[in-house]
Amino acid sequence: MRTSGSCLCKAVKFSFDIAEKHFNSCHCKMCRVWGGGPAMVVESAGGIEFESEEELALYDSSKWAERGFCKKCGSHLFYRLKNHPYCNFNLGTLDNDQEFTFKTQFYIDIKPHNYAFSNETKTMTEEEVMAAFNS
Ligand SMILES: [Zn+2]
Ligand SMILES: [Zn+2]
Repeated sequence: MRTSGSCLCKAVKFSFDIAEKHFNSCHCKMCRVWGGGPAMVVESAGGIEFESEEELALYDSSKWAERGFCKKCGSHLFYRLKNHPYCNFNLGTLDNDQEFTFKTQFYIDIKPHNYAFSNETKTMTEEEVMAAFNS
């Protein structure tokens, strides 16, 4: 399956392959600062293509990952690993975002107590996330 999306001002347009129509949420502090709330992301299965990269900027957010955003309108677009093909795009930037179902909440143990999703999802603690990504 293929999906596509763009930033708010449409200067950055992209498309990529998806294995399933699921999205995940991340409650970690970095995602909350970057997006103003918990991240909601769709994992790419490869084939990432940008129609225009002129306004695309990368923020070096850690030793292992970087985050892409539009220089013009500021939309947060994706998170990707530097030495691995893993990349996820923010759900809201996708043209068909309403077709995706909520699968997993990451870092559930460090989620702030002042909000909660009522969807029934799988949840993973920081320890479980680390164990899954290190294998
Ligand atoms: Zn833009
Ligand atoms: Zn996060």
